[in-house]
Amino acid sequence: MNLNTVTEIKRPISADEIPEWRAGYAWLAGGTWLFSTPQIDTHTLIDLESLHWPALKVTADGLEIAATCTIAELEQFQAPAAWTSAPLLKLCSHALLMSFKIYNAATVGGNICMSLPAGAMISLMVSLEGTYTLWPRSGRPRKLAALEFVTGNHKNVLEPGELLRSIHLPASALEKRFAFRRNSLTHLGRSAALVAGTRSKTRDDFLLTVTAATVKPIQLRFDRLPSAGALQRAIDAAIHDTDWFDDVHGSAPYKRHLTYYYAEQIRVELAQ
Ligand SMILES: Cc1cc2nc3c(=O)[nH]c(=O)nc-3n(C[C@H](O)[C@H](O)[C@H](O)COP(=O)(O)OP(=O)(O)OC[C@H]3O[C@@H](n4cnc5c(N)ncnc54)[C@H](O)[C@@H]3O)c2cc1C
Repeated sequence: MNLNTVTEIKRPISADEIPEWRAGYAWLAGGTWLFSTPQIDTHTLIDLESLHWPALKVTADGLEIAATCTIAELEQFQAPAAWTSAPLLKLCSHALLMSFKIYNAATVGGNICMSLPAGAMISLMVSLEGTYTLWPRSGRPRKLAALEFVTGNHKNVLEPGELLRSIHLPASALEKRFAFRRNSLTHLGRSAALVAGTRSKTRDDFLLTVTAATVKPIQLRFDRLPSAGALQRAIDAAIHDTDWFDDVHGSAPYKRHLTYYYAEQIRVELAQ
């Protein structure tokens, strides 16, 4: 849709060109959400594309993903063979209601900053133990665990004007084994529950990440693979009644049921 309150588009080549944040400014990534609904309080869009950040970079430590990397670029990424959990990149890239246009235009950072419970890139980054680099408008860059970023439905820790610059996925997480379960009430629709588990190849650990079913990501970390009962009790303790996300894409009891069901399937799959 046309955003008829917008009177200016800035195309900086460096984020430093925006030293001061004003009411009515908005960062523009793929624009797939920004242009989907009226933005009556926004008069200036600041296009992130003109910053030309390299989308993906493999390093000895893992994978560096620019916030401006598109979901299409991430989905097509060819990972090193040792990164056994890399198929999660593709699985999560398909875990959202996505037209051809959204696939090619929506960015990883835009998806994360939207902070929807069903944000597929959020599920991915938390499951793979990502760290975000945030650029405040004033002050030094700060780093934050992906798990800490989303604080509620459509809520996150970003201060006004603060920019999500990049996401780091550590090689130690990419080299783990994984299991993935997702359900949506409609074919290719919004996730009702997306649950992922990972385990190191050389240790007995187990990491379970619950997203979409809950208002924000919940992660359970075990030093040893838990029994079915211990896993159930850990979910009981970690997820409170008010954490289950009730919306048209599934009631809270339904999402709760899926979470327990998938968590146990994942535990059994990764026990092998
Ligand atoms: C109707 C609808 C339903 C959707 N359903 C789902 C769903 O079920 N699951 C799912 O995962 N996604 C869903 N999405 C999200 C969508 O698929 C895109 O991932 C999302 O819109 C963000 O993509 P974008 O790059 O176009 O961001 P934009 O639309 O450009 O920006 C989104 C918001 O993030 C801010 N922003 C963007 N980048 C940054 C940055 N680097 N730093 C700080 N702020 C930033 C913008 O200012 C804006 O407020 C839905 C979107 C719509 C419109």
